[in-house]
Amino acid sequence: MPQRRQYDVLIVGLGPVGAVLAALGAQLGLRIRVVEKDTEVYRLPRAVQIDYEVMRLLNFVGVADDVLANSCASAGYEFVNRDREILMSRYPPPGLAPTGYPWANMFHQPSLEAALRARLAECPEVEVSLGATVTGVEQDDAGVTAVIETEDGSERAEAAYAVGCDGARSFVRRALDIDMVDLGFEEPWVVVDVKLPPGMRQLSEVSVQLCDPGQPTTSVLSGPGRHRWEFMLRPGDDYAEATRPEVLKARLADWVDTDAIELERSAVYEFHGLIARRWRSGRILLIGDAAHQMPPFFGQGLCSGVRDACNLAWKLAAVMRGAVAPAFLDTVQAEREPHVAGITRSAIELGRIVCVADETEAAERDRRMLAGRTPFPSMPVITEGVLGDRGAGRPMPEPMVTGTRRERVDDIVGYVPLLVVADGGRDAAAIQAFRAAFPDARVGALEHARDGQLALEDESGHLRRMLAEEPALLAKPDRIVFGAGSVAMLAWEWADYLRGETLA
Ligand SMILES: Cc1cc2nc3c(=O)[nH]c(=O)nc-3n(C[C@H](O)[C@H](O)[C@H](O)COP(=O)(O)OP(=O)(O)OC[C@H]3O[C@@H](n4cnc5c(N)ncnc54)[C@H](O)[C@@H]3O)c2cc1C
Repeated sequence: MPQRRQYDVLIVGLGPVGAVLAALGAQLGLRIRVVEKDTEVYRLPRAVQIDYEVMRLLNFVGVADDVLANSCASAGYEFVNRDREILMSRYPPPGLAPTGYPWANMFHQPSLEAALRARLAECPEVEVSLGATVTGVEQDDAGVTAVIETEDGSERAEAAYAVGCDGARSFVRRALDIDMVDLGFEEPWVVVDVKLPPGMRQLSEVSVQLCDPGQPTTSVLSGPGRHRWEFMLRPGDDYAEATRPEVLKARLADWVDTDAIELERSAVYEFHGLIARRWRSGRILLIGDAAHQMPPFFGQGLCSGVRDACNLAWKLAAVMRGAVAPAFLDTVQAEREPHVAGITRSAIELGRIVCVADETEAAERDRRMLAGRTPFPSMPVITEGVLGDRGAGRPMPEPMVTGTRRERVDDIVGYVPLLVVADGGRDAAAIQAFRAAFPDARVGALEHARDGQLALEDESGHLRRMLAEEPALLAKPDRIVFGAGSVAMLAWEWADYLRGETLA
């Protein structure tokens, strides 16, 4: 007899995105089942960069410090031609980013995944099955049933909702017959991670895209003691040959003393720009690489998937407790897809600068880019599910909470909506009404905190600048600013948003 169990959410795939979703869901009291076909974290080279916004999201699930311990801050990102002239560059502003983390954190993805799994092991609400493959998924009005195959046989698990976090080749996406929109990029590259000689923490301060038509190459920082190179392959190149140690060392010889380093791992990838046409079908959703894939030149694939998980988790919890209608889950794609598409187009744009193998075309590119300053693409702003401008759709700067200890506000309030008021002594009735209407939300004040409001310290001044003209701002649980304005207006619009109504 197949075993039958009941969960709130069944997550297919325990990559970084499934793990973050599971950890957030557990914090919100959801009963979670995670099914992962492999028994170990993925060992081949993948993400090396996490941005300052996603570090804050990882802090919600308690792994930001693990990432910091296994990362080094990047001092810049340069696109250079064969003569090492800078075609385009981006350097982080001095100091920490507004979230309180370094702007670009060069890290080691398996360390992140191991830290996430360690956190999940501490969550009694999460049942993780490793070495278990989802081979079937069906849904009806009552819920989702997944068929799970293990060495020991087959099981059917039931959940109210299922989320495909099962990566680029997503079984769930195929089972739902959802196709991908191709944004038009396909380039094979061989990727190699090396361990640096003992005592050498990092090889350079900046990451480099060498736009040499003879051999387009990426050289990026990875975690401490590691470095990553990526080499564009040509049509007809033998992929197996490309990962042979002798062949890799020959490529690396221009960059490093190959006798001093250790080849850690390598793989050939075909970089794409693809976005799933639908991210939700009834009770089943797709996020992370299952919903979108992008070339790595912007370092944003994993970051985007973590943003998806943080956009989705509180909405699933709200649906489960009946606070919002199931159709509210459509806001995940509505809000996330334009952001991901913008990032993917930028990643493709960067890829097109690097992936030029034709000498004449490369010379023309160099001439054009050296003649005028080419701006580095900026991160798109979230435009859906937020109120107009004044910082809406951007990550909220992170204040500290003053008290017996000085702590990040996120460490105290966690993954919940946060209303920040400039002056806690003003609009007391509206603030009280807001708290009564949205008991899961927290309130912090930059001045005159009172009545259970958190006293916020805005050392960097970012929040004060945002609140110079408005009395309050509201951040969603994922710390995307919903809007700024009067407390009464924010309460009104937030209620409309939760009801799925069109925002002003
Ligand atoms: C060379 C390279 C460089 C990159 N650099 C960056 C970077 O610098 N920054 C960045 O943000 N991103 C980067 N990325 C992208 C990043 O690695 C991915 O976006 C990220 O790993 C996706 O996470 P995920 O959890 O969605 O999917 P995955 O990590 O692929 O996890 C999916 C999981 O689902 C499991 N699974 C699949 N099918 C089933 C099934 N039927 N049943 C059960 N389990 C299943 C798989 O075993 C896997 O563990 C890079 C990628 C590459 C290839």
